[in-house]
Amino acid sequence: MNLHEYQGKEILSSFGVGIQRGIVAQTPEEAVEAAKQLTEQTGTSWYVVKAQVHAGGRGKGGGVKLAKNLEEVKTISDDIIGMMLVTPQTSAEGKLVSQVLIAEDVYYPGESETEEFYVSVLLNRATGKNMVMYSPEGGMDIEEVAEKTPELIFTEEIDPGTGLLPFQARKIAFNLGLSGNAFKEMTKFVMSLYKAYEKSDSAMFEINPVLKTSDNKIIAVDAKVSLDENALYRHQDYLAYRDIREEHPIEVEAKAAGLNYVALDGNVGCMVNGAGLAMGTMDLIKQAGGEPANFLDVGGTADAKRVEIAFRIILKDPNVKAILVNIFGGIVRCDRVAQGVVDAYKNMKNAINVPIIVRLQGTNAVEAKALIDAQEGLNVISAVEFQEAAEKVQEVLS
Ligand code: GDP
Ligand code: MN
Repeated sequence: MNLHEYQGKEILSSFGVGIQRGIVAQTPEEAVEAAKQLTEQTGTSWYVVKAQVHAGGRGKGGGVKLAKNLEEVKTISDDIIGMMLVTPQTSAEGKLVSQVLIAEDVYYPGESETEEFYVSVLLNRATGKNMVMYSPEGGMDIEEVAEKTPELIFTEEIDPGTGLLPFQARKIAFNLGLSGNAFKEMTKFVMSLYKAYEKSDSAMFEINPVLKTSDNKIIAVDAKVSLDENALYRHQDYLAYRDIREEHPIEVEAKAAGLNYVALDGNVGCMVNGAGLAMGTMDLIKQAGGEPANFLDVGGTADAKRVEIAFRIILKDPNVKAILVNIFGGIVRCDRVAQGVVDAYKNMKNAINVPIIVRLQGTNAVEAKALIDAQEGLNVISAVEFQEAAEKVQEVLS
């Protein structure tokens, strides 16, 4: 589950990680109040207005702006709230901004003495260990740094038995070119950052930039935090962080129905039982020249009710021009699934307006095919082989 910057900073702060302080606001008026409050708390007289959306690169898209007085806080917030923010990480139409973070300006005074770093914590899947990835080239596109100067990206692997050790934190601070007080501050920052990552059961922390202020403090100016959803049950207080406005509406609905659905860009809807078979089905569609519109794992019980819900969800995507049902009947008998498909189809009457290609393999597959083939007036085509099914999809599309 992805978080907004302000939520990520809340978690960081609760573990003692230094942050650029800020207050979130939903309207320009609230933004001005937030700025006043922030001045009371921090003494700042300049502010940064930061769009809160689940996408990085906001600065590049005009979603992060400096305000030098309350009047500017108001006009800038007015511009940003309600805008469709387009960044290198959003689609072409962008993301609607519904709230802004009013943060203290931490670069002034003495901007020339500040330094920006990149620090992230994530799982190295190759070794199964967490690692800190960091670079002295912070603030900018880390992808670009990785491409042009990969030698400036360092990693530090963490032994799960001991956790991050102080000597490792010192090594990180050293490689970032720090000395004196800033060195000490950075070791503290990294130690507490790792603790926050571990204790919050996060899947990823990306802090870019981490700032060395002109008075040698080390703080998180940005925070991209992704929580591990499988561990959310251990963090009831984080549940409120979910912002469904940021999620794909069809995915939200599928989740509520207990279906495993991921929206994609293609035009072939997929209904499959089992994640592995679903991945294989998507590969085959592509190989036959098509593009999958979604990943959908209906799970083991592909009964009529579930099949119907799955059809309804797939058809909410207007790009879907055909649906491929690919079910392996192991415990669930294929003829029952076939009956489920037919019942769902009939039940939905005119809602299904695209051809459906059904491939059922496994127990009672022959009976299932006969059942599908006996249907009249339904736009359902049966297939036996996997390849054949994908080709039939291409046929109905062309
Ligand atoms: P992102 O573009 O979505 O990654 O958003 P960031 O939170 O990283 O902000 C983008 C850029 O805005 C940063 O790299 C900074 O250079 C700049 N920025 C952020 N906070 C401040 C601030 O307090 N003062 C100034 N002058 N610039 C800031
Ligand atoms: Mn950033």
